[in-house]
Amino acid sequence: MPDLVLLSTGGTIATTSTEAGRVVGVDAKTLLRSAEGHWDSGAVRVRALDVKRLVSFAATTEDVLDLARAVRAASAEADGIVVTHGTDSMEEAAFLVSLTHEGEVPVVFTGAQRPFDDTAPDGPRNLASALRWAASSEARGTGVSVVFDDKVLPVVGVRKVHTLALSAFAAPGRGPIATVDEAGVRLHARPSVAPALLSLDVERLPRVDVIGQYLGADAVALEAALACGARGLVVAGFGAGNTAPDVTEACLALLDEGFPVAVASRVGSGAVLGLYSGGGADLLRAGAIPAGDLSPWQTRLLLAAALTRTAGQDGPGTVETCRRWLEQVGAVAR
Ligand code: ASP
Repeated sequence: MPDLVLLSTGGTIATTSTEAGRVVGVDAKTLLRSAEGHWDSGAVRVRALDVKRLVSFAATTEDVLDLARAVRAASAEADGIVVTHGTDSMEEAAFLVSLTHEGEVPVVFTGAQRPFDDTAPDGPRNLASALRWAASSEARGTGVSVVFDDKVLPVVGVRKVHTLALSAFAAPGRGPIATVDEAGVRLHARPSVAPALLSLDVERLPRVDVIGQYLGADAVALEAALACGARGLVVAGFGAGNTAPDVTEACLALLDEGFPVAVASRVGSGAVLGLYSGGGADLLRAGAIPAGDLSPWQTRLLLAAALTRTAGQDGPGTVETCRRWLEQVGAVAR
């Protein structure tokens, strides 16, 4: 009989409504009970633990590193781990945990769009599907995944794509790796799983800021990030990875000094490519890292993790570490 561990961190799945708005108040054991009846819970042993009680928009990267340590500890004694988490920053938390995760034990994130006390909650079914996937032999070796609305999505490239709908997540261009519903688990594709990049001894990630691009953007936000000690930058570029003229100029000056800059897109799907003079073509030629289909937020965590690894060490530098990692997960072409 498979042994699973459920780690609860809060989020809408664990909230109830108050006059002030939704608040986290439901513990892991109660969540687990709510999923009974949605799956064959008798065939699996599940240990339920409360790790945090947060709404995920209030979580920090240190909170997620704590979670990653709890995942590591639980992986030593379980066949699968399920994490219940707020949806607002789930794509980042799951990604950061994946940068620390090693081995065959699957780690499965899930949550809900509707609170625990809703008249038609989606949390119990999502949790049951996540447990069912985590207990399956198909899930072994798939690294970290996100289960939502019967779909199993790979962590790389996963995004929240709807503010309210029950089908809230997608991995555009990658698609679900499996389906989990009444008909059982059906594996459609095996995700590319990269080796761990981030040590769990790291307590705090280096500062990396995301610089949004919008009509008429200037370099003020970029300069503010540098003044606050940013050690790397990610631009959430226009289209296939373009930046406004002042931002291009500022990035080129940084790249010239060997400061790491990654280029992601604000579009929401597709690759990054250096197409335009004055924009992405200049940046990539100067050595900026194209982020492939990673969101700007996932790219930020990748760059921060690479910075912890390469600080003052021999071996590949930060940019090369990111490039290799992106190739390994099929985010950029080899
Ligand atoms: N709307 C969020 C959720 O789905 C709140 C949070 O991220 O904690 O859980």
